[in-house]
Amino acid sequence: MSNIVAIVGRPNVGKSTLYNRLTESRKAIVDDMSGVTRDRHYGVAEWIGRNFTVIDTGGYVANSEDVFEAAIREQVTIAIEEATVIVFVVDVTTGITDLDDEIANLLRRSKKPVFVVVNKVDNTSLNADATIFYSLGLGEIYSVSSMTGSGTGELLDAVVKTF
Ligand code: GDP
Ligand code: MG
Repeated sequence: MSNIVAIVGRPNVGKSTLYNRLTESRKAIVDDMSGVTRDRHYGVAEWIGRNFTVIDTGGYVANSEDVFEAAIREQVTIAIEEATVIVFVVDVTTGITDLDDEIANLLRRSKKPVFVVVNKVDNTSLNADATIFYSLGLGEIYSVSSMTGSGTGELLDAVVKTF
């Protein structure tokens, strides 16, 4: 069985940008699956000789807060079931939102390793702002800029160690 890294988080935190970066320059098999997984993108990635599958969750469109939250909850629940490792993406520019807290509550119950990825840390002056995410209670945080790629190496080093 291949290792699966699921990227979860509320909209606009940069999940797809991170996904594209992790799967870039690979022969990305980006597959739109049917049924319950129709909104998920699957791609292949490689880091220091380890191959794994990356899932980008949350490509859905929703028109109300409630549908939105239910959809996110469903995606997180599926991720907890099928992933080897969960990457929980949050946004340093917004801080912790209610939806972040809700996702954190779901993830805290999971026995799978969870990596809190604080995205949009585009420059070192934002590192101090990132520390607020320790209060999610999910352990270590990984500050990255999915846009520039900064910090993603350290994240991947830690992720592949769990395989
Ligand atoms: P998703 O909804 O979680 O998949 O988020 P997207 O990947 O679509 O990104 C949402 C927005 O955040 C887009 O405008 C991205 O360009 C922007 N974004 C993503 N990563 C970064 C980053 O590292 N730094 C900055 N400044 N913006 C980012
Ligand atoms: Mg997306």
